[in-house]
Amino acid sequence: RSKSSRRGSITVYEESMAKISARFETVRNELHHAIERNELFVVFQPLMEISNSGVAGFEALVRWDSPRLGSVSPVEFIPLAEKTGLIDAVSTVVLKHISSQIRDWKRRGYCVPPISFNLSPSTLENVDGAEKFLIQLETYGLCPGDLVLEFTETAVIHNEEVVAENIRVLARHGFRIALDDFGTGYSSLENLYKLHISKLKIDKSFVFKIKGSVKHANIVRGLISMARSIDLNVIAEGVESEDQLEMLREWGCDMAQGYIFAKPMLPADAERYLEAA
Ligand code: C2E
Ligand code: MG
Ligand code: MG
Ligand code: MG
Repeated sequence: RSKSSRRGSITVYEESMAKISARFETVRNELHHAIERNELFVVFQPLMEISNSGVAGFEALVRWDSPRLGSVSPVEFIPLAEKTGLIDAVSTVVLKHISSQIRDWKRRGYCVPPISFNLSPSTLENVDGAEKFLIQLETYGLCPGDLVLEFTETAVIHNEEVVAENIRVLARHGFRIALDDFGTGYSSLENLYKLHISKLKIDKSFVFKIKGSVKHANIVRGLISMARSIDLNVIAEGVESEDQLEMLREWGCDMAQGYIFAKPMLPADAERYLEAA
């Protein structure tokens, strides 16, 4: 390779890095205002009981419609919020939305199943994270029965002891805990029984492949049977086809979440999945 072509590729690399960091700065600045200007809102996706197709709960998922940037995916802005210290403010907005939505649904006579909330890693990694979180829930009138708390394995690789203790505190207060995106992180199988979790969510990247790959099918079937043997409730995320649902049913998976049933929906659409109390 000549010097000039090497210089050329470095320039291209530098340009794309510059673009990435410019986007990061823009999104960071906008997100800061978005929180104050109420641009964040929450959508709800049903978790279905596979055996009887009943609604077992909803997962609350944050959305951001920015007047300047358009709709920004949480896949982009949640990691950014975690890096820039904005995640606690985002979590607070989400909790407020969940709390007022539950109150509204109850007032209007609906029977409201537990709402799954995605814990931020900071809540579990800080020494007094669980205590602070419990105080916040009390402020918003949220009880253990109202919520399922989801966390991802990536939180577990840092401060393992602190994470375990925070989970213990939350579980002791009666909250159900779900290990989210299982299979994508670095968590050991040991975490499944050491941590005080009651639910396991198998990541959609595995579920997507169970029809086309025998290996993935075997992994997911094995995970389900292992989880059930230690009394964990198993949820498959990202279920999109009848074939996938049928395989999961056969393997004894408890619940499914995915486009085959419904996409995340605005409250007015989600409430069609609720029954009168
Ligand atoms: P997650 O907690 O694993 O949420 C499941 C994601 O899978 C959601 O993406 C959901 O829309 C998507 N999904 C569900 N069913 C299907 C399906 O059948 N097919 C496909 N292709 N996708 C499906 P979403 O809403 O984009 O959220 C992405 C991630 O962002 C979440 O993954 C979660 O880690 C994070 N996130 C979302 N809302 C919040 C929040 O309020 N707080 C925190 N801390 N993180 C959040
Ligand atoms: Mg989740
Ligand atoms: Mg998940
Ligand atoms: Mg996921």
